[in-house]
Amino acid sequence: MNILLLGSGGREHALAWKLAQSPLVEKFYAAPGNPGIAQDAECVSLDATDHAAISDFCRMRNIDLVVVGPEAPLVDGLADSLRAENIAVFGPNRLPAQLEGSKGFTKDLCIRANIPTARFVRATNAADALAALDDFPIPVVIKADGLAAGKGVIIAETRADAEQAIAMMFDGEFGDAGAEVVIEEFLTGEEASFFAITDGETVMPFGTAQDHKRVGEGDVGLNTGGMGAYSPAPVLTDALQQEVLDTIIQPTVDALASEGMPYSGVLFAGLMLTDKGPQLIEYNARFGDPECQVLMMRLQSDLARLMLATAKGELSGFGQPEFSADTALTVVMAANGYPGSPDKGGQIRNLARAERGHPGSSAIKIFHAGTAEEDGKLLANGGRVLNITATGSNTTEAQAAAYSAVDKIDFDTGFCRRDIGWRQVAREADS
Ligand code: AMP
Repeated sequence: MNILLLGSGGREHALAWKLAQSPLVEKFYAAPGNPGIAQDAECVSLDATDHAAISDFCRMRNIDLVVVGPEAPLVDGLADSLRAENIAVFGPNRLPAQLEGSKGFTKDLCIRANIPTARFVRATNAADALAALDDFPIPVVIKADGLAAGKGVIIAETRADAEQAIAMMFDGEFGDAGAEVVIEEFLTGEEASFFAITDGETVMPFGTAQDHKRVGEGDVGLNTGGMGAYSPAPVLTDALQQEVLDTIIQPTVDALASEGMPYSGVLFAGLMLTDKGPQLIEYNARFGDPECQVLMMRLQSDLARLMLATAKGELSGFGQPEFSADTALTVVMAANGYPGSPDKGGQIRNLARAERGHPGSSAIKIFHAGTAEEDGKLLANGGRVLNITATGSNTTEAQAAAYSAVDKIDFDTGFCRRDIGWRQVAREADS
């Protein structure tokens, strides 16, 4: 089969690496890709917002499957355009992708399908939002309804901060994404991510992970796209995973199907494990970045076969995807300045050395995100630059292997957190 993968981040490099391992794959293209993806696929220049150009490319190159990495093209209806041309695509149509594209849409669905989530109010103007604040204790969570590149959530520690957040959103700080807001009860507990693959009917659990959103060690400082992750997340025990499937994922898939907008692709649930059980914080309509990197490192099954079966609605009887029992852990190396204005152009050396000579039985793989190649040199070309990913028999071992690889990399203008996996490493030390 011939595949076109859309995207250019660490998530897409991990998908490309795994897809390229499939014996089914003949021609494999990525648009726009990055220097790491170029090791696995032929990178081509295509604009994901130009649906006609993508359809034309698929017809000309006999593409059997399009894999959409990021959320924006899904929320924009790219999958609908491709399906209308009978091109198989891994990723949901525009309406079900509203699970990520509109927080209000997801919250309303939770009410209709009786899915556990924080109490909330939707508001389309500042006056209504301010009035609604009276019904919530402080801290309170204020969210822009639409896609805001991970920045549209404010946890207000005082009433004044909440009022300011509301004013900022309706003043257009997040553009159209903030034209509506969701005001939400603050939940306490540990956060974890749960992934499922579905063709709209059959649901397959696809692993668990924990990420690290803040830029600083000990989870302090500004929010980022994610500074590291590990999988599995043992805090999501088998019993909790079953509860998440039964009370959150399956009811969501069933509700969307019965409402005429079946969801096809990967469904990524951000959960809060509260003392009343798992509650849904948010849905994403694609893999997490860097959670995808750790899932792909552990996946044993043929990803191309699984994605094609998903796209064709043939998951019934397909067999559960298999993951190694190892832990995988990824450390993000970012350019200095991230998440503000990252330094660009810093040189990176010694990646091949870092991937070799791994300690014990650990495997190391470095996934590229914001890199560029110029005159044979590898340069930093974005905020998050590299994903140093290692396996181990537990999180402690995977963490040690990842940092031993990090320490071999020469990247003067970059930095990373040194504590990725700390929650689980502490639990392992206690046990
Ligand atoms: P979201 O984009 O909805 O995942 O929100 C980003 C982050 O804000 C989450 O990963 C949580 O850390 C935090 N968050 C969102 N909603 C809540 C909530 N209701 N209670 C506590 N924290 C929340």
